[in-house]
Amino acid sequence: MNIIKHFINGKISEGSSKRTSQVFNPATGEKQSEVKLANKSDLDKTVSVAKKAFETWSLKPPLQRARVMFKFKELIEKNSDELTKLIVLEHGKVYEDAKGSLTRGLEVVEFACGIPQVLKGEFTENVGTDVDSWSIRQPLGVCAGITPFNFPAMVPMWMFPIAIACGNTFVLKPSEKDPSCALKLAQLLKEAGLPDGVFNVINGDKEAVDAILLNKDIKAVSFVGSTPIAKYIYENAAKNEKRVQALGGAKNHLVVMPDCDLDGAVNGLMGAAYGSAGERCMAQSVAVAVGNIADDLVSRLSKKVEALKVGPGMDKNSEMGPLVTKEHLEKVKGYVDLGIKEGAKLVIDGRNLKLQGYEKGFYIGGCLFDHVEKDMRIYKEEIFGPVLSVVRVKNFEEATRLINEHEYGNGVSIYTRDGDTGRAFASKIQVGMVGINIPIPVPMAFHSFGGWKRSLFGDQHMHGMEGVRFYTKLKTITSRWPSGIRSNPEFIMPTMK
Ligand code: NAD
Repeated sequence: MNIIKHFINGKISEGSSKRTSQVFNPATGEKQSEVKLANKSDLDKTVSVAKKAFETWSLKPPLQRARVMFKFKELIEKNSDELTKLIVLEHGKVYEDAKGSLTRGLEVVEFACGIPQVLKGEFTENVGTDVDSWSIRQPLGVCAGITPFNFPAMVPMWMFPIAIACGNTFVLKPSEKDPSCALKLAQLLKEAGLPDGVFNVINGDKEAVDAILLNKDIKAVSFVGSTPIAKYIYENAAKNEKRVQALGGAKNHLVVMPDCDLDGAVNGLMGAAYGSAGERCMAQSVAVAVGNIADDLVSRLSKKVEALKVGPGMDKNSEMGPLVTKEHLEKVKGYVDLGIKEGAKLVIDGRNLKLQGYEKGFYIGGCLFDHVEKDMRIYKEEIFGPVLSVVRVKNFEEATRLINEHEYGNGVSIYTRDGDTGRAFASKIQVGMVGINIPIPVPMAFHSFGGWKRSLFGDQHMHGMEGVRFYTKLKTITSRWPSGIRSNPEFIMPTMK
């Protein structure tokens, strides 16, 4: 049996804990590895290594740190097939989608290559007579990242390239469901010339996470995962005096206006609702049909959902792969059962899908609900599977009210040909990432990613300049040289003279 370990101080490490968790191939349903689950002592030892590495890494000129990122970028490109296969084999998503997610992570590395430019501070000559002032951003120390199963390469790469390029050291705790990609990235960073101890991977579950929250030498925690755990991380990291950004779950709406390009909206919805089997925090799981468009929308959608090609992620013909685990498959099927009980109309039922040769894989076909109401649990809760709900509303005002009243506010989209409608929507909607005729409005690496309401706890979004601000502290220096020093003491508040 393949045992997945940790990566500490530049090498693969056993750790002292004997606990393990199982890792499956979702396409076949077979167990393929066991992953070590770190204990507090493993985590604390790793943090001391990272703390020591910070002493020298933080002093390296930003240009030298950027050069490691340039090399790392090259190595990711060279190893992209292997990294992509690791994602497919443990997560299940289809190869091209997995490759796309790797590219979105790589783009953050590309942003981090420009860190010398980004870290340049501000300088004012003569803030007062003969007095100059300037601001710099300095790294925090050891930072930790705790990441979800659905993007085993991209989400960690939202965090560590920027943290490291800013001069911090890093401990990553990936999801125990698909941990291999993180270890490969650690090896590539070492090959790129990153000094030992700057980037470490600790595999584990709640025990390792709690050890991160308690460790006094960890200065900042970045988390991405479900909302209840995000809230727990936010509260406990803050209680232990850490800087924290905790991104949570989502329920994203795509508004279909009667004037829109309906085929464009239907195709947008298909990719956004069923891509990666709906296991995306930016998945569009609710279609809001405005006015008289609903019947036409449901009829066009149902044909496409029925025709979805579901299969193993490595099969080039598959449009949608399996779900990540058997437990998750049961949970998603449970939500479909619940939707029927709640009175929604199940137009397409994917629950009984069986694939020849892959009978034990964690597959479900695309599911489509119509006449979903806002008080139903299938509308309120995140399902995180290939289940699209259509909610019918009378007009634009009802659509925006519905979205603004939802507890989540990660992503949203509107399809319309009317500029005024698009502009009013972007301005009024209480959601962090907005698309206009764009189905999945994930910001590029040089912008920042983050939701509103219970989709993000904390102040800073991830990557781009928000990432730089999160991983650095601002220091402002005011100086005067001896020729300008005043000869008498002054007891009044200094003001500009
Ligand atoms: P999860 O919350 O179960 O796990 C996330 C991380 O927290 C993992 O590393 C896991 O080991 C750890 N964890 C799990 N239970 C814990 C506990 N009780 N105490 C401490 N740590 C714990 O999430 P998941 O199932 O891996 O990922 C899916 C969720 O992530 C969805 O809700 C999805 O919307 C969300 N997500 C959000 C974003 C975003 O940007 N907002 C992006 C990707 C995924």
